[in-house]
Amino acid sequence: YRVLRLVLGDQLTMQHQWFSSPSDEVLYVMMEVRTETDYVWHHIQKACAFFAAMERFAQELVAAGHHVLYLALDNPLNLHSFASNCSRLISHYNITRFEYQLPDEYRLDKALKTFCSNLDIAWESYNTAHFYTSRGEASEFFGSRKGMVMESFYRHMRKKHGILVSGGVPVGDQWNFDQDNRKKLPRGHRPPPPLHFDNDVTSQYARIIAADVKTIGTINPANFPWPLDRTQALELLRHFTDYCLPLFGTFQDAMHTGEYSLYHSRLSFCMNTKMLSPREVIDAALFSWQESGGGIALNQLEGFIRQILGWREYMRGIYWMKMPGMEKMNYFGNDRKLPEWYWTGNTRMKCMKECINQSLGHSYAHHIQRLMVTGNFALIAGIEPSEVDFWYLGIYIDAIEWVELPNTRGMSQFADGGLTASKPYAASANYINKMSNYCSGCHYNYKARTGDAACPFNSLYWDFFDRNRSKLKDNPRIAMVYRLWDRMAQQERAAILTRAQECLDTIDNL
Ligand code: FAD
Repeated sequence: YRVLRLVLGDQLTMQHQWFSSPSDEVLYVMMEVRTETDYVWHHIQKACAFFAAMERFAQELVAAGHHVLYLALDNPLNLHSFASNCSRLISHYNITRFEYQLPDEYRLDKALKTFCSNLDIAWESYNTAHFYTSRGEASEFFGSRKGMVMESFYRHMRKKHGILVSGGVPVGDQWNFDQDNRKKLPRGHRPPPPLHFDNDVTSQYARIIAADVKTIGTINPANFPWPLDRTQALELLRHFTDYCLPLFGTFQDAMHTGEYSLYHSRLSFCMNTKMLSPREVIDAALFSWQESGGGIALNQLEGFIRQILGWREYMRGIYWMKMPGMEKMNYFGNDRKLPEWYWTGNTRMKCMKECINQSLGHSYAHHIQRLMVTGNFALIAGIEPSEVDFWYLGIYIDAIEWVELPNTRGMSQFADGGLTASKPYAASANYINKMSNYCSGCHYNYKARTGDAACPFNSLYWDFFDRNRSKLKDNPRIAMVYRLWDRMAQQERAAILTRAQECLDTIDNL
């Protein structure tokens, strides 16, 4: 071989220019390394899904005539970092050129740049051609503007890519249909069951366990539900457009006991590993909407497109704009430890128990569960953002830093001081009760703010705003909150703050 090409675990696409024709001069290398398994406590389903999908992709490459070296976790020749494995292969095969696709994470970007700067052979990095935007595009777009509001970026993307736009005007004469969306699941309404595959990941599971990798969550490796190759990813996409898209927008913020994904697509793992491109997901949704002849309403489609064309690309842009500083941001100066029950689900708050147990069981929670339940609690309780990041970066099947960090530290924890979110996503039990059935049968009373039985969200909500007044008081979007607080009787306010302090003092036992 003359050329060594590194394929990372989230670069599983045959659509890249590299693979247009096989060459006997090129050796592709894929590897399962301890630097990747150990930087956080990954969910066992996430670790197995990545390894199994990587192996299937390697097999696909071989079937297409490419030469692939797959270094599994238990391979005695595996040196357990990208740099040391690549160095060994370069000298072993007398390689004269090293190539890689640009990683999406800052950590790997830096590691590979350092590696290449020390090479005494030629090297080249390639774009992945996966996203709608380049790394710096959002930064350029916002460069001359005041704020960095997602909505303006999203409208720009709609126009630039001609998606649901006709003659510069949005189809349906509106950019946003949020007022039609965000309904609670009606009593007795059953969403379509999620599509589960019957995959076998016992060999990947055995390797991870034998290597004593620290993981979290549960798995049934002989009956593994997540898609692991392109064929399955396309099946999941089809399942989404057939069964979930028709009510995606309506119920995108709903939460319901026992229904872990409702009308959500569960496509984030497929897109984040690049088994599916965001373009083909949006095209498939557009196609289904057109074919439905009015059967699928515009608000359902627009709500879905906004997530991918808007939020996903926006988060990528913010990440590259703000790294490496972003991983240290802590606007409120929070320093509390994450309660132990985030790792076990062992809490009496039913909403937290549901969302955490579901995450430990499925390695998945949908956006509102992440933002308005687990994230909301961490925000109002003042948890140190690194503790929160560590949890989110490990537990979800789709967690990769470029998308986890701006969502967690930025959007959910407001640790960036309002760069990604124009106001903190803090809410009391009232919101959770409005959007879910979690509050019924809870140990705590969702209506009460004070006293032992009061839902901790209620006092912590006010305590959060009171505690952070100097940092938030000038935000016009929350002026109303402070007006309400100031109008409350002095005694009531004191009782709320007392209850909040009690909750914080006994946080591990809530
Ligand atoms: P759907 O609801 O079906 O949405 C379709 C697609 O839109 C998703 O697959 C995803 O690619 C994209 N999308 C939707 N919202 C966002 C968003 N806010 N940012 C980026 N893309 C979005 N997403 C990740 O992919 N990885 C993460 O590590 C991650 N961490 C998060 C942490 C927190 C605290 C929060 C609040 C959100 C996080 N998200 C993350 C965003 C979002 O919650 C997930 O993308 C979504 O829940 C995945 O489920 P789905 O595929 O069923 O999404």
